[in-house]
Amino acid sequence: MAIRLVILDCDRTLWEHEDVFIDGQTVQDARGEQVRLARGARELLDALRERGILISVCSWNRADLVFAIFDLLGLTRYFVHPKVEFHPHKDRMIAALLAELAREGTVLHAEEVLFVDDNPMMLEMVRQGVGPVRTLRAQIDVLDLRDVLKYLDQPEPTEPT
Ligand SMILES: [Mg+2]
Repeated sequence: MAIRLVILDCDRTLWEHEDVFIDGQTVQDARGEQVRLARGARELLDALRERGILISVCSWNRADLVFAIFDLLGLTRYFVHPKVEFHPHKDRMIAALLAELAREGTVLHAEEVLFVDDNPMMLEMVRQGVGPVRTLRAQIDVLDLRDVLKYLDQPEPTEPT
């Protein structure tokens, strides 16, 4: 099944920093470094939108902070039902996201969802809790976010007959 929704983690996935905060009009990390998006991030977001693939985020973080960062970086318009909650249960966040989309008439199978996160425990939790969501590990499988496009362009594995 083709991917119809790509969900991105934020810290160390959408941006290559952790513990980000806003200082005036700039976004910084704990070391005072200005936060930039991960390599290929804008190209990925634009390409997904062009292809009609839905994009969302799932982040264990403070919603007010992350949504303010999205505004500052001009990202808000890309995401449908972004999930930013201050707890580690990303399986629940993604289940809620899929339920919200279904209520709007977009019913997705787990196989049509790709989740990208740097934390392998999160990927496993989501596969266990939501179903056979496809997963990629940021910083390992995905060094440049445009690698996600390469994954989408791979021929689908054929079912054994
Ligand atoms: Mg992360």
